[in-house]
Amino acid sequence: MIFDIITLFPEIINSYCACSIVKRGVERGIIKVNPYNLRDYSTDKHKKVDDTPYGGGGGMVLACQSVFDCYNAIKKEENFEFILLTPQGEPYNQKIAVELSKKKQLILLCGHYEGFDERIRIGLNPREISIGDYVLTGGELGALVILDSVSRNLEGFLGYDKCALADSFSSDLSGLLEYPHYTKPRDFRGLKVPEVLLNGNHKEISEFRQQESLKRTKKRRPDLL
Ligand code: SAM
Repeated sequence: MIFDIITLFPEIINSYCACSIVKRGVERGIIKVNPYNLRDYSTDKHKKVDDTPYGGGGGMVLACQSVFDCYNAIKKEENFEFILLTPQGEPYNQKIAVELSKKKQLILLCGHYEGFDERIRIGLNPREISIGDYVLTGGELGALVILDSVSRNLEGFLGYDKCALADSFSSDLSGLLEYPHYTKPRDFRGLKVPEVLLNGNHKEISEFRQQESLKRTKKRRPDLL
C-alpha cells in the first residue's frame, strides 16, 4: 500500500517511519511511504506556500498553488483516496481504518498554520478527516495516526495476521474493548494472575475473556455496546 504524504515537515514522517513495526513494514515492502515537501512545489522564488487571510485575522493560510501542483504531480493508482487532515473533518475510528486499508493508495494532505485556502477543498474535493476534537499545530500527527492504524490491517504487517482482528474495536471482539492481559510471573508482589488463565482449558479461557471484554466496555465505553 502506498502512503503519499503532502507536508511542510517530511522529517516528522521519516523519523516515525524509521522505527519499530512501521519500519519493518517499509523494509518488507508491505507499505511504501512517500513524503512530499510542499515547498518543492512552490513557484515562489522564496518557496513561500502560505499567505495572510483575506478579510484579516491572525495567522497564515496555506495557499492553493503549491498544494494543487503537488497533488497533481502525484501518480494516482486505480484505487486511491485523497484525505485532508482537519479538526473539522469526520471523526476517525477503527471502522474507517479498516475501510481505508482496502485502498491501494492514500494521499494525505497535512495542513499547518490557520489551515487551508477553502478553494483547496472546493477544487480537489478531498475526504476530510479529524483525529479528535482538539486542535494540533499540523496535520502530520494525523497522517501518521492514519498510516499506522491502516497498516496494522494489512496482511503480513504485524507478522502474525490474526492479531489486529483481536484488538479493541475489531470484528473478533464485536467492536468491544479488549480483555486484560497477564504475563509472567504468576504472582507479582501479591498481585495474582486469574486462575482460569492458568488451567489450560481453552473454552473457559475464551469465556472469561469475553466476559472481561464486556465488563470493561460496559464500564469504560458503554457507547460501544
Ligand atoms: N484553524 C483551523 C480550525 O480551527 O479548524 C485549525 C488549523 S490547525 C492549527 C493546523 C492544521 O493542523 C490543520 O490544517 C490540520 O491539517 C491539522 N490538524 C489540527 N488538528 C487536527 C485534528 N484534530 N485532526 C486532524 N488534523 C488536525
